[in-house]
Amino acid sequence: MSGPELWPQTGRVPPLPPPITIKKAGRIRRLRSVNPIEAEYSGKAEVCKVRKYLCKICKEQGHNSRGCKI
Ligand SMILES: [Zn+2]
Repeated sequence: MSGPELWPQTGRVPPLPPPITIKKAGRIRRLRSVNPIEAEYSGKAEVCKVRKYLCKICKEQGHNSRGCKI
């Protein structure tokens, strides 16, 4: 049986292990939403329009399917 012990030495640095990523439960937290008053002054009022989510699962407004409790 051949193994790493029998491989020729290259003198190179061994490859880095894959980065450890911890997947958190729930929806991904984005950057804080801009305050409407603050946005008015900075001209970003268009960006923070309140979107009416319609849930595909329970057909209720206010949240989307990702935020559905069902
Ligand atoms: Zn729902």
